[in-house]
Amino acid sequence: MPAALTPSPSPRCALPSRLHCQVLVVGAGPAGADLARQLAMAGVEVLLVDQLADLSHAAFSSAALPLATMDRFGLPARVAAARWSRWQLIGPGERRREWSGSAPLGVVLDFAALRRWLADECQAWGGQVTLGLRAVACRPEGKGLRTRLRDRRGALLEVESAWVVDATGQQRALIGEVPAARDPLVSGLGCEWLVEAPQSLWEQWADRLAFCLGSDWVGQGYGWVFPMQPGRLKIGVCRLADEGRPQRPLAAELCALLDRLFSPQERAALRVLDRHGGLIRSRIHRREPHRRGRLLALGDAVSTANLLGGEGIRHALASSRVLAPLLLRALDGAGASDPLRAYPADLRRALGWRWSLSGRLARRTWLGLRSPAADRRLEALLQGLEGCTAEDLSALLFDYRFERYGLRAVPYLLGWR
Ligand SMILES: Cc1cc2nc3c(=O)[nH]c(=O)nc-3n(C[C@H](O)[C@H](O)[C@H](O)COP(=O)(O)OP(=O)(O)OC[C@H]3O[C@@H](n4cnc5c(N)ncnc54)[C@H](O)[C@@H]3O)c2cc1C
Repeated sequence: MPAALTPSPSPRCALPSRLHCQVLVVGAGPAGADLARQLAMAGVEVLLVDQLADLSHAAFSSAALPLATMDRFGLPARVAAARWSRWQLIGPGERRREWSGSAPLGVVLDFAALRRWLADECQAWGGQVTLGLRAVACRPEGKGLRTRLRDRRGALLEVESAWVVDATGQQRALIGEVPAARDPLVSGLGCEWLVEAPQSLWEQWADRLAFCLGSDWVGQGYGWVFPMQPGRLKIGVCRLADEGRPQRPLAAELCALLDRLFSPQERAALRVLDRHGGLIRSRIHRREPHRRGRLLALGDAVSTANLLGGEGIRHALASSRVLAPLLLRALDGAGASDPLRAYPADLRRALGWRWSLSGRLARRTWLGLRSPAADRRLEALLQGLEGCTAEDLSALLFDYRFERYGLRAVPYLLGWR
């Protein structure tokens, strides 16, 4: 067994300064950890590293998903913190609308538990997982790549591998960012608190995804309250960055949201367990390199995060499901052609044509949501949804099936209104 695959008892174990493996996966988010577990299952010598010292830390994602994702990606019940069967849309103004499904429609994952489970699975299948290592550079050497990593004390480590996968999310730490005027990076910044709430208060928000919409709630964005385990809620705000337009600090938006949703007594009863947040940065047309030689990228690093609902976990997992079989064929080296050439097109096909349409809609909706006129347009759209079922709303927001909304939406989607 090569040095890289010697089990490491803890992230801080003394590592040799040079390691070898077939595939180095950098980033143990949903994309990288899922890819590493699939490669390990197939018997590949894979090393999965992350800059986090503990995958429970920085659990930044709200992690709301449709129920079908659990089955599709074989996720176990223990990574789900709560199920939900209702949508609640609050706003513009004080208007509240609710849609109830007859069965559970989705889950809110415990993001930390998801990452830990995927990494544990990778290890259980014989892969190595080493935490507290930050990749700083990667360059071709011989027939493979040499990657330089730094541990938390500043010590350097080099990994030689046939392939490297950049799964560092929106940071794109190794694949880098290529400026593209016709397809710029669109950024959304999110800020969320995990709170403990008294049972009676928690019950008011359990079993639903609640969103606050309208410029008087969050300018150029939206707020949310999601249920977690009994007695816990995730409350957050997210907003698209608008260069050149002053925006209030996001923390102030979150405090204003809390003051409006909860009475002073309720607010005083909330105990903040964790404050976290993060960036989502995606290109709407996804015209960016998915590969540089033997360096590949997946997940948010190739813009699979969708800006409409700030949603990216299932798309990150989808990207690993597209990449894994192609990489296995490349490792096998049997055919004359390069199987990885198909990767960008296969991924585009897997995400579907609706993916970029929803990105356009996201940019238009959220960036434009900054005036009473925009609130009136949003109100008209929401009125049009009142006749829908909760399942229709899921199809609209998760499957981007805008045609269910009817032809009235088309001019809005295309930016004519
Ligand atoms: C506030 C917020 C709320 C969200 N809510 C939802 C939601 O409700 N539902 C949903 O589906 N999605 C949501 N998302 C998006 C979703 O979390 C991401 O799309 C998803 O996590 C992307 O997965 P990934 O594996 O590509 O990247 P990430 O999850 O970002 O994982 C990247 C990993 O790489 C590591 N890393 C980065 N740089 C380095 C380096 N140089 N060396 C080593 N390791 C490195 C990081 O520590 C991280 O663990 C949300 C995002 C934010 C910011």
